[in-house]
Amino acid sequence: MRIAEPTVERLVLYARLLKRLQEEGVDVISSQEIGDELGLKASQVRKDLSYFGEIGKRGVGYSVPRLCEHLEAILSPPRVWRIAMVGVGRLGGALLGYGPLQNEKFKMVALFDVDPAKVGRIFRGAPCFHVDRIADVIAELAIEVFILTVPAEAAQSVVDRIASSSFVKGILNFAPAPIVAPKEILVYNVDISVELEKLLFYLKQRESQSAHFVLE
Ligand code: NAD
Repeated sequence: MRIAEPTVERLVLYARLLKRLQEEGVDVISSQEIGDELGLKASQVRKDLSYFGEIGKRGVGYSVPRLCEHLEAILSPPRVWRIAMVGVGRLGGALLGYGPLQNEKFKMVALFDVDPAKVGRIFRGAPCFHVDRIADVIAELAIEVFILTVPAEAAQSVVDRIASSSFVKGILNFAPAPIVAPKEILVYNVDISVELEKLLFYLKQRESQSAHFVLE
């Protein structure tokens, strides 16, 4: 089943919220409450969850532990992904300190850089290797997924080194460079400025709709 990207994003938000509520000891939650917490319409929440087979009881709501387990099962296969990061600079360092990246679904097993001040050190429990060793370390540690936070001009050469290994299945690329990888590797680009442009586009649309409404 191919699930649209915005739906997957909402599922991640539901799972995160439900996990927090479970830790707080909340047993039951309504679609309205989930929507209020996440800034979504209750009808959207109901639609998303019923699509994945989870139907709340009318007037009662959803069981938090059950929904939490259900979302976890949809979002993550029952195994731990072994991930690594290339480029332990400002962005890489910030991501390493980002709470949700310390997760039972994936383990950051290695870091790579070229800076002698970083190579050989351990950051947040993960050892930093020189990027020249990347092929060997991928094989030794069976790394499957990479986060790329190197300067744009270094991105493709790093991807080429990563792609020479048959272990790697995915790359989350933060570098603003059009990288090319073999089709066996799924590349996902993240760019905060694109997200901001999207927000501004929708804000502009909203403004022109309300101006239209006033004119009518
Ligand atoms: P930075 O200079 O602080 O860090 C880059 C790190 O990469 C450094 O530690 C450097 O030693 C290392 N590096 C350089 N060449 C390398 C190579 N060949 N192999 C391995 N490591 C190498 O830069 P930053 O501010 O952390 O930004 C990193 C990247 O992220 C840049 O491409 C930047 O444009 C991008 N960025 C993207 C977003 C986004 O939303 N996608 C946001 C901010 C920054």
